[in-house]
Formats: sequence, structure tokens, C-alpha cells
Amino acid sequence: MPLTTIDYPGELAAVVFCQGCPWRCRYCHNPELLDRSRPTSLDWEAVMALLRRRVGLLDAVVFSGGEPTLQRGLAKAMAEVRRLGFKIGLHSAGCYPARLAEVLPLVDWVGMDVKALPGDYPRLTGVPGSGERAWKSLQMLLTSKVSHEVRVTVHDQLMTAQKLKALIGKLAVAGARSIALQVCRARQMLDPSLGPAGADWVTPELLDSIVRSYGQQLVLRV
Ligand code: SF4
Repeated sequence: MPLTTIDYPGELAAVVFCQGCPWRCRYCHNPELLDRSRPTSLDWEAVMALLRRRVGLLDAVVFSGGEPTLQRGLAKAMAEVRRLGFKIGLHSAGCYPARLAEVLPLVDWVGMDVKALPGDYPRLTGVPGSGERAWKSLQMLLTSKVSHEVRVTVHDQLMTAQKLKALIGKLAVAGARSIALQVCRARQMLDPSLGPAGADWVTPELLDSIVRSYGQQLVLRV
């Protein structure tokens, strides 16, 4: 449960990494967190004990993963943390729209990964229907008015410039108010056949044309 200033913009936060994710994204940089049956290093009581000692020192607690919305007890855990006075952040890929709906009233900020246009998800996640789930979750987040950042991570072997422009355009039309575009920098990835991501195709011309179209809501981390 490391301390961080980057996982919840503007807040000093602790991050709770939840074990398990139903998807297998080829560029996943946390493969050790994917197996839901793997024992965790801290149980929930130990996490709460740590957080009680941080009251007054931290602003927020971010539930990350793996995929936090996999956890049946997520809403209960968030409510307990809120009662300590912390803001609640959530990192999610939108795998479980129904659980996202359950926890949104408890959340102050969401960093949501949107990986591709809906039809392109299975090639990336290995899971049929994953794109529909992710985009349903996104729509739910955008209509909830909860503060958010939509995160698009690109790898040159998994995305083309044309697809990226179409994706950012669809996000803007959907109402995403803050979009962060970042090149995959992972040192370890689930699929070892993927080499390090090259950023060459993210050309100044491509960025210019994206920024000209959506500049007011786009953060670049390339
Ligand atoms: S959704 Fe996130 S945690 Fe799950 S496999 Fe994909 S990148 Fe990894």
C-alpha cells in the first residue's frame, strides 16, 4: 500500500491494490495481480489498521488493481474508508458495470482506462464482450458527474494512428471531460512477445491534429 501523489491528481493518497482481474491485456504491467485466487500480502483488517494510523496525514485512498470492481466487498470497504475521513479514488477498466454503479456514489474521483474502440477490445484483452462492458461503464461514469480522468494507454503494436484518432474522437463525443494519452512504458508485460512500445508513430503531426480537435480536455504523457 504505497503512498503516492500521482494516483489521485492533487491529493496525497495511499493505494490499495486489489488482487484479481477478469481480463488478460497483452500489455498488462501487473501480471502478478491478475489471478484472483492468489493470496494477498495484507488482509482487509490490516489495511484498515494502517489507514487509521494515517488519518490526518493523507487526503485520499485509491482502490486500484488488478480490477477493484471484481471485489464483492468493494462498496463496504469504501464506506469504511470514507468514515475515516478520506476521499475515495478508483482505478478501473470498467470490467463490471453493475458494481461500478454500486460504488459510484461512494467515489470522489475515477481514473478509467479506455483501451480501444469497443470492437477492438477482445484482440487486446482476450475476452469477448469486454469492449461493450468497458464502454457501458464509461457512459455510466460520464453521466454520474463524478470527477474523472479517462486514460488511454497506447502501444504501437496494438494501436494505429487512425484508430487512436477515432478513439479520442469517440471519447470526446461521449462527453469525456479529461483524457490522458500515455505511451505504454511498462518494463514487464503479460505478453512477453510484445517488445517495448515505440513512440515514433505518435508524431508531432498526429498530436497536433488530436490537440486541435480535442485540446481543451487532453493531457499528453508521451
Ligand atoms: S484490465 Fe488492467 S489489470 Fe486487467 S489485465 Fe488489463 S491492464 Fe491488467
